[in-house]
Amino acid sequence: MESLYLKNTAENQSGANMSYKEKLTSENIENFLKQSKNIPVLEELILEKAENLRTIACLNPKQTLKKASLLSQEKLNQELLRIKKSVDSFLDLQENEIPETPSIRYWCFIDNFRFRKNFHYAGYCLPDKILLMPKRKEIIFPGIAHEYCHHAQYSVIPDLLKSKIGEYKEEAYILFEFPDYEGKYRTFTEGHARGAERHISSAYAEQNGNLFTCAIKSLDIEELRDCYSWLCRAFRKKPNSQVRKINTGYPYFASRFEKPVPHAIGNAFFSIMEREHGPKIYAEAIRQFNGH
Ligand SMILES: [Zn+2]
Repeated sequence: MESLYLKNTAENQSGANMSYKEKLTSENIENFLKQSKNIPVLEELILEKAENLRTIACLNPKQTLKKASLLSQEKLNQELLRIKKSVDSFLDLQENEIPETPSIRYWCFIDNFRFRKNFHYAGYCLPDKILLMPKRKEIIFPGIAHEYCHHAQYSVIPDLLKSKIGEYKEEAYILFEFPDYEGKYRTFTEGHARGAERHISSAYAEQNGNLFTCAIKSLDIEELRDCYSWLCRAFRKKPNSQVRKINTGYPYFASRFEKPVPHAIGNAFFSIMEREHGPKIYAEAIRQFNGH
């Protein structure tokens, strides 16, 4: 990851002398992504992912996104432990690196305009607990993986969150999880957590049908397309009509006139990196962030 990212940022004359940590600020990830050469890369990625989604959907024509049922508290705890193991190994983390497993529960604080506006959002990670909104049932497992990945990020790289928020306040952490809130490393943490989501959704696909995989892949396509359209607008390029026509059925609010949310930009950044270097980049990102 280091070498390619160095090469790419050197081309736009901004990243050559930056430390790894510096390269991963939201601003620098955005600068990296906002290059015209990423337009065809994203286009290819989106079309590939759409083809893949079509194949899955064909295998399970009757499955819809709304069929997943809620889990009991006991089952939630069990699943968290299983997902923790899987995410820890995906990120190559040892047991002693994450001192405590967070608690997990459903949370129904939904009646808020920003929640409604961004209703694809499903969970929160506080330093010691994960809160999930039952609203988007189909992304429960990937949602746990996403939030647990934040827990791992904050445990292994405590500066990530504290650099922005300072002293621990529950409301501040919740605020930090709003999709339109921008922190210094927000784009990095969200893109990184999207990698864990994808990993879990394919790991769970065999036991749970393709419900979770379908939802995550659809969201994935929507976020990448949002970034693709943003780049096309910036460089005055006409978007590919095949890309425009993809209908994932996922309720996503594209940014249209502004830039995409940090989740989408981080996802596009990591997807491009993953395509070049494979899934090892997620473990490497944590190691290199800490200077190892
Ligand atoms: Zn997140």
